[in-house]
Amino acid sequence: MPIGLFKRLFPSKEKVEAPTPNKKAAKPKPAENKKPKSKASTAPKAVTKAPQPKWDPAQFTVAAVEGKTRFHDFKLDERIMRGIYDLGFEYASPIQSESLPITLAGHDIIGKAQTGTGKTAAFLITVMQKLLTSTPQERFASEPRALVVAPTRELALQIAQDARELGKHTDLHVMTVLGGMDYDKQRTELSNKVVDIVVATPGRLLDFLNQKIVFLDQVEMLVIDEADRMLDMGFIPDLKRIIRATPEKNLRQTQLFSATYPYDVIELSESWTYKPHQVEIEPESVATERVDQKFYIIQETEKDKTLARILKSPEMGRAIIFANRRDTTRDLAQRLNRMGLNAMLLSGEVAQNKRMATLERFKKQEKAILVATDVAGRGIHVDGISHVFNYNLPDDPEDYVHRIGRTGRAGANGIAITFVDEFEAYGLMDLESYLGNKIVTEVAPEE
Ligand code: AMP
Repeated sequence: MPIGLFKRLFPSKEKVEAPTPNKKAAKPKPAENKKPKSKASTAPKAVTKAPQPKWDPAQFTVAAVEGKTRFHDFKLDERIMRGIYDLGFEYASPIQSESLPITLAGHDIIGKAQTGTGKTAAFLITVMQKLLTSTPQERFASEPRALVVAPTRELALQIAQDARELGKHTDLHVMTVLGGMDYDKQRTELSNKVVDIVVATPGRLLDFLNQKIVFLDQVEMLVIDEADRMLDMGFIPDLKRIIRATPEKNLRQTQLFSATYPYDVIELSESWTYKPHQVEIEPESVATERVDQKFYIIQETEKDKTLARILKSPEMGRAIIFANRRDTTRDLAQRLNRMGLNAMLLSGEVAQNKRMATLERFKKQEKAILVATDVAGRGIHVDGISHVFNYNLPDDPEDYVHRIGRTGRAGANGIAITFVDEFEAYGLMDLESYLGNKIVTEVAPEE
């Protein structure tokens, strides 16, 4: 969507003010389906807030640079600062420097940003800061204080991992509620432990909600990530039910992120957020800045050979090859393996547990090849991917940006090579207008 349209549909809101004290501080009204608090689960947990003495914040020094925001500028809890320090972050990324002043002041946010921009840390920092600043007197099992909903298991797992790293020095308890795995384990953990942050995919969370295994009426902080993907994947009805189980929108803080804003997402965003502020990070500037993009005109029959040749070159590190269909990825992975290249497969037809093991293997090896579909590839947040290949030109230009955003992450440079055969060439025009710049094609190199 053109920025103009986005801005018209979301007219810019009032300036960031001081936090409205009674908005979020208001006591959430009791939910109707309130859980009978059984003995087993009612043991109140004393939330210990003692800072860890061994770390001296003075060791986290970052030079002030004009135009850059440091995390020091936000007056964050020392335990969060220590997590940030351990992660090696120095300056806030654009989405962080734009959104944190808004969200830390208690306002809702609608963020147009995609993966690779640092949006996960942006919303997690606020969630954690809020949870650490106010401590309810009593806590109970089954009642998270923060809920992050994401469309895919891979993304949810990645968010939970980021939360555990960022919150390493806090005693905030993070857990995932995900379909396809560990049903009993998740149920037991929710029922028996005090959980602060739940990161969930919609299906399993709704199941647990219906069975009264989880209660969302104590949710102070709600994050909806990749709202556009939720829409694509048909999760909106589930999500609506989930959100209805949380406190009313003026009694919780909501952060909603989406890479794109189709009309339905705009409408939903408005109904789920309270006086939201908007932050927009343009995809081109994020995804393409550090990615050298090449478009090779090539015959379909030549793709394998050329791909294998490039994959065998010495400068190859970790590579992801995207194709448009599951069967294409499966067949391609097999063919590459027959050519002596050790290719892993990540698509919806691979069982969930195997997908996670594959991702782990991919992360651990310095040189590795992964063949993936768009949906499976969305959740891949692995640094150090040197090359992304588009075996097919994606049907949807947004997918192109998502795909190439797997490389060029965390300050590194990356190369994206897109194969375009004679049938795909017509799709270049769409992509050009989406990216807003001219695409220069070249004939695929023979050597
Ligand atoms: P995300 O868009 O949340 O998937 O984050 C993309 C990557 O950027 C992740 O590997 C983060 O660990 C990393 N990252 C997030 N914030 C920063 C920062 N301020 N400085 C450096 N790296 C960051």
